Amino acid sequence: MALIVHKYGGTSMGSTDRIKNVATRVAKWHDAGHQIIVVPSAMSGETNRLIGLAKQIMEQPDPRELDMIASTGEQVSVGLLSMALLAIGKKAVSYAGWQVPIKTDSAYTKARIESIDDQRVKADLAEGKIVIITGFQGIDADGNLTTLGRGGSDTSAVAIAAAMKAEECLIYTDVDGVYTTDPRVVSEARRLKTITFEEMLELASLGSKVLQSRSVEFAGNYRVPTRVLSSLTDPLMPLEEEANSGTLISFEEDTHMEQAVISGIAFNRDEAKITVLGVPDKPGVAYHILGPIADANIEVDMIIQNQSVEGKTDFTFTVSRGEYVKAMGVLEAVKEEVSAITLVGDAKVSKVSVVGVGMRSHVGVASQMFRTLSEEGINILMISTSEIKISVLIDEKYMELAVRALHKAFDLEKA
Ligand code: ADP
Ligand code: ASP
Ligand code: MG
Repeated sequence: MALIVHKYGGTSMGSTDRIKNVATRVAKWHDAGHQIIVVPSAMSGETNRLIGLAKQIMEQPDPRELDMIASTGEQVSVGLLSMALLAIGKKAVSYAGWQVPIKTDSAYTKARIESIDDQRVKADLAEGKIVIITGFQGIDADGNLTTLGRGGSDTSAVAIAAAMKAEECLIYTDVDGVYTTDPRVVSEARRLKTITFEEMLELASLGSKVLQSRSVEFAGNYRVPTRVLSSLTDPLMPLEEEANSGTLISFEEDTHMEQAVISGIAFNRDEAKITVLGVPDKPGVAYHILGPIADANIEVDMIIQNQSVEGKTDFTFTVSRGEYVKAMGVLEAVKEEVSAITLVGDAKVSKVSVVGVGMRSHVGVASQMFRTLSEEGINILMISTSEIKISVLIDEKYMELAVRALHKAFDLEKA
């Protein structure tokens, strides 16, 4: 007998029939003798609908109130799934995040999990109950509801698996694993049987939304064996077969050395670029520009500072598109203080990244990437690299073309 956490995403929970299928699958695992915790997302489209309602009232919704609204989708899901299990004769109980409790910091709309109490859940499991806990939501130290950012149910599931010391976390979704890139963009994308934590972390944080990046951080930090697999298969398929399907996130030392140089391509459509033009090139400028941005809780990604000309330089960085207006507002207020000539922005840029641990031992990845983009006539606006990834910022209208061309250039469709 093992304790296993199942996570089901929005499509998997998308209708009452799908929820009944989830109940059938979960019951199969429970009948096989396992203790099961299930972490569902809101039904597909529901979180968008809720955020849309909020925006009809307030264009830039108040973050605390937004979390109050957005967190409700998951509450409906846990209730429905619990009922679907009760209806087929299983013992089940649902909990909202605050009832567990799942404690977070107070960063509304992107809160971080700080602790998860295991007592109540463990007692239910010991009584033979299937425990269903809302994804995406938590509670802060003052009792306010919080949410973990879009796609946050993945993080809830892996964090719960870590806190409860589960043997495995199974992330059921609408694709049958992690692919070399989003199979919706490149039909030749290939499913990977395993991927290292490190690569998965890069892919997720660079935009592959198959897993929220914080979920991968939890999996790595707490060594939670995590697998991504399909919820759209026959829920009564043999358990052994299901347990070995999909993509296992593995530790690098477990994988053999014959790895491809590049494992995958990630992209993020929703980037924005801001340039502060003509700032004096002297100590403290980067701090005076980015300090207020950080104080406003806006995450900065790529940064470049140009060569100075006659003591003046241009400073460019990227933020996520959703924070572009806010970031421009912050900078308008500090423009004079940093003696900048002007601000220019472009909210129609995207980032494409190639990722692979093989880059450590192979040279020439960057030149092949740049050659491929140049052959397609795609202009590179910014570049950033780490040991295992190269990212470029390009005009959003070339994003899909770039992903397809790079997928082919690096032979990713071939095993
Ligand atoms: P869920 O609702 O189950 O959380 P998501 O929509 O958040 O599902 O994530 C699954 C989607 O991630 C897939 O439908 C696919 O389009 C997308 N995706 C992006 N990159 C990848 C990738 N490398 N491998 C698999 N799926 C990917
Ligand atoms: N329902 C939330 C969202 O749509 C969380 C999740 O699906 O993981 O972002
Ligand atoms: Mg998701």
